[in-house]
Amino acid sequence: MDKIYLTWWQIDRAVFALAEELRKKFMPDVIVGVARGGLIPAVMLSHILGDVDVEIIAVKFYKDIEEHMEKPVVTIPLHGSLNGKRVVIVDDVSDTGKTLEVVIEEVKKAGAREVKVACLSMKPWTKVVPDFYVFRTDQWIVFPWEEFPVVVRE
Ligand code: 5GP
Repeated sequence: MDKIYLTWWQIDRAVFALAEELRKKFMPDVIVGVARGGLIPAVMLSHILGDVDVEIIAVKFYKDIEEHMEKPVVTIPLHGSLNGKRVVIVDDVSDTGKTLEVVIEEVKKAGAREVKVACLSMKPWTKVVPDFYVFRTDQWIVFPWEEFPVVVRE
């Protein structure tokens, strides 16, 4: 799969664009950042929107030994109640959409009144199209906070 490399400048523009739309259409009480990829945009959005509270959740996929299926497991659960809150879930990218499916479920279980999803990016095949996103790509995205591959000539 081809890769695209995003710069900090592009991330900055994308997060500010998301913040502008959120402010107009869905000002949240709480931002739920999905670890790890969603944490940096979640914290940036929290500051831009005026110190909105941030909660964290993490989901990992483990191979189910019998069924040979990837099963999503919540590795860091939400820490408190979201009772009656307007919540925006923030992640870097919605790829298969399985992570967001689990997170939406958890946020609803925690009592959120309204739930929206904001991502920097989405893949065309995802089953969870975010309510807010900046760009679509079928390539593998390398974010600026990730390791860039280095070629070491022997
Ligand atoms: P899902 O397939 O459940 O929608 O995505 C799970 C997670 O895989 C995403 O939150 C993200 O952290 C990671 N992921 C999926 N596609 C990409 C990609 O193109 N680039 C990077 N860096 N991570 C991705």
